[in-house]
This record gives sequence, structure tokens and C-alpha cells, in this order.
Amino acid sequence: MTAAKLVVGNWKMNGSLVRVRAFADVVARDWPGCESVLCVPHPLLPAAQMAFGATPLRWGAQDCSAEDDGAFTGEVSARMIGELGARYVIIGHSERRLAHAETDGQIASKAQRALAAGLTPIVCVGENAEERDGEQTAMVLRRQLVQLVRALGRDLACVVIAYEPVWAIGTGAAAEPGLIERTHGFIADMLVFHAGPSASAVRILYGGSVNPRNAGVFLSCSRVAGLLVGGASLAPTDFMQICKAAAQCSDNAASVDGNTPIGQAS
Ligand code: PEP
Repeated sequence: MTAAKLVVGNWKMNGSLVRVRAFADVVARDWPGCESVLCVPHPLLPAAQMAFGATPLRWGAQDCSAEDDGAFTGEVSARMIGELGARYVIIGHSERRLAHAETDGQIASKAQRALAAGLTPIVCVGENAEERDGEQTAMVLRRQLVQLVRALGRDLACVVIAYEPVWAIGTGAAAEPGLIERTHGFIADMLVFHAGPSASAVRILYGGSVNPRNAGVFLSCSRVAGLLVGGASLAPTDFMQICKAAAQCSDNAASVDGNTPIGQAS
């Protein structure tokens, strides 16, 4: 039995109060019945709570502080995000790793704060084009995940991981399903190797140039627990189409050439 797929939208620094309300109208009219979340910029969280509160769509943030409170000007804590009814927070997105020099240690601390505040962290990992071409994907993923595993221990089972190859984000060049299956397999094995059997509960999403036309292909990969969607989450009709594909995704998900390992889990 294939578990229900999760679809997460990431608005990045886009949107407005008006767009949140318009999105909610479409959701109320045309709900496909899959588990889905829209991660909006922090100032739009109260509007998301107001607009989506009466709908099945959940809402979340795109980052939280590694600290609980104190003299951290401009930061937003996981607790504050939770007070606005959010259930999820994206952590360690490649744009934050790159533009804000976030380290794997900080990302692990943010995930701990998120869990303590009752949020589900969606932790993003993935190699850039240079690392892919240098066949360093396994090494990069191991490095990105090891501190998280150590910091969270058994709580790791409550985390969602999003495999987002940096070269696929916003480029229109999504990864091949076979590569996604192999990489998700590597991540799953690595988590179990380091954290024990409970880590097999971790959901692993794919993200990178997903749109309504290609979503079904990724969703039919047996190791893909759902999708993280950037650009295509801005248009409510596109997002709803992707959610529909997730809802319709059948129990007989295909395993797509997931046999060639990308590296050792250890
Ligand atoms: C993202 O921002 O996480 C993302 C996957 O973006 P896009 O879908 O636009 O490639």
C-alpha cells in the first residue's frame, strides 16, 4: 500500500494578501483531497491562517531561527510560526544555504527548534551542478544529513526530507525519475544506517521544476513520498492540478530504474 503523498508549495518571496485570499477561493471550490501545505513568507502567515483555516490546506513558513528568543534582530522563531497555526516549516532551502551561508549545524538546530514548537521541519538537501558532474552527490548528501541525524536522534522520524538538486530548481530541467529513485533510495538507506529502523518512517519529497505536466511521473516513483513545488505553486490552478495528481496516485506506484546505487549509505 502506497502512503498518501504530500505536496508542499513554496512561494519564496512572492505573494500578497490578495493572492492568499484568491488562492483560498480556488482551494474551497476545487479541493482534490490530498495532504498539502503552502509555505508563505512570514508576513503572510496571519492571512494564511485566516484564509486556509476553514479549508483542508495547511500552511507553513520557509525558515525559522536556530534560536528560541532573544537579541536576534529580524529573526522569526519556530514558536512564533506555530502560534500562527502553521504546522510545517521549510529548513535549509538551497537559496538560504547559498545566500545566507547557512551551515549544516545551523540547519540541524533549526530543525530541533521546529520540532520543539510542534512544527514538522521539511529539510532540503541536494547537490549543485558542479558536485553532480564531479560525482560527489553521495558525499554531499551524507555531509548535509549527518549532523541532522545526530542532533535529532529518534525525532528524525518526524522530519520530512526534500531532495532538491540545486541544478533542477527554477531551471525547467527536472531530474530524471531514475536518478530521483536512486537518490531517494540512498537517502533512505543512509538515514536507517545512522539512525536505526525508525528512520524508515521519514518521508522523502522530490523538488525541482515540478509542474502539472510532469508531477504524475515523479509521484509514480515508489520512493517519492511527495513533491516540493516552487514556481508552479504560485498559480492556484497549477498547484491544484499537482495536488490532484497526488490524490489520484495509485497504490501500484512504479519503481523506476532505482537499482544502481549512487553510493554507500555509510
Ligand atoms: C523550490 O524552490 O524549492 C523549487 C523546487 O522551485 P521550482 O519548483 O520552481 O524549481
